[in-house]
Amino acid sequence: MNHISVKLRITLWLTVLMLTLAILLMGFMLFISSTVATQTAMQELSQTVQSNLQQVSYTDGALSMGDGFSYYHSGVTTLIYSKSETLLAGQIPVAFTGASESFQNGVTRTVSVGEQDYLVMDLWLASGWEDGVWIRGVMAAPDTEQTAKNLITVALIALPAFLVLAAAGSYIIVRKSFKPLDSISATAAAISEASDLSQRIALPPGRDEFTRLADTFNQLFQRLERSFEAEKQFTADASHELRTPVSIIKGACEYAEKYDETPEERAETISMIYRQAVRMSGLISQLLSMTRLEQGTEIAKPEPVELGELIRSLCQEQDYQRIEIECPAPVTVQADPALIRRLAANLIDNGFKYGRPEGHVWVSIRQTEGEALLEVRDDGIGISPEEQEKVWQRFYQVDTSRGDEGGAGLGLAMVQQIAQAHGGYMTLESVPGIGSRFTLHLPL
Ligand code: ADP
Repeated sequence: MNHISVKLRITLWLTVLMLTLAILLMGFMLFISSTVATQTAMQELSQTVQSNLQQVSYTDGALSMGDGFSYYHSGVTTLIYSKSETLLAGQIPVAFTGASESFQNGVTRTVSVGEQDYLVMDLWLASGWEDGVWIRGVMAAPDTEQTAKNLITVALIALPAFLVLAAAGSYIIVRKSFKPLDSISATAAAISEASDLSQRIALPPGRDEFTRLADTFNQLFQRLERSFEAEKQFTADASHELRTPVSIIKGACEYAEKYDETPEERAETISMIYRQAVRMSGLISQLLSMTRLEQGTEIAKPEPVELGELIRSLCQEQDYQRIEIECPAPVTVQADPALIRRLAANLIDNGFKYGRPEGHVWVSIRQTEGEALLEVRDDGIGISPEEQEKVWQRFYQVDTSRGDEGGAGLGLAMVQQIAQAHGGYMTLESVPGIGSRFTLHLPL
């Protein structure tokens, strides 16, 4: 059964169900039709015999019938017998002649004579204490066998046609409904074979379950494509960023090997190699940290952190000049202190790096309803509105010529990643030439 397709299984099930239903219905119809026919005939017999009884008078051995008496009415033959069961009036139906059915007052019953069934009913009409006559009604029982035969013949002709129609109809509906599923598996196979994530499932009109499923798959493919593209871009950017210091180091070494350098020149080369090595090492540790954050392994132990205290100890450690901290009341959050330190250090470093000479950085910590806010503001060069969205992207730098100042455009991407890893988010307000304000929003 497992190797049969779902379409065929549903069609088979529906067809078997239809067949069972049709057979049950036919049996029920047969039963009902024979019962109803017999009951109707019995009713007719009883009514006819009773109405004839009204028309018969039998007094002092004299039998007389009124005008309403009828010997044969609606298939019922009426016979009148004496007390000693001698036929007084009426004509016994030929086939019933041989029957020797005793008289029973008011009982309708079936009497079989050879192949034929008869319905018989007797009524006793008394005359005085001792005498009277029997009024007997006889009618041929309805032929239920013939009805059954007719019904079965009709069924034998109609049923196969009905079954073919039911099976074909079910199969067409099921196949049409399953079409998006075929399309989904074909597209998934095409993606897997050709590694082409740009393919999409052609969506049929309508909003049934399968169309919704196909829609969800298309969204999934789109997200996968976007994240694959981002991953590709990230790898390209990362290798480019690493290649630059490596080529500088390589070039410097080759130059030093080829030409005789003065001790001053040599010292300058070594210092350059050192600067590039430091830059590379910073880049590698930033990349590693971002990967760990993405994998969720870096935020291992959130603990209560008082933000004012954390910022003060960071400023002391880094010996920042021209910085002001504003923290009117303690604000405690559940966070990873090392990550929050890195976030704050990145923002404060940027504040000085992209500030004016002798510029200032202000750090403000406060609490609103449900949120802790850590704000880093500077009076530096600012960021234009078009660039404000982009600065959060990995490796994005507004002015690439400043890349040599140590950064590679990863700082803000990491800041955002740390905020998100804590269930928070970052906002940025900036006016070119006036300054920027980066705010971390953390849920309390
Ligand atoms: P990096 O500083 O290494 O270049 P970041 O991700 O920290 O990378 O910043 C991305 C870009 O955003 C920077 O190149 C800079 O142009 C801009 N930027 C960041 N912080 C500020 C700031 N406080 N003022 C002005 N521009 C900024």
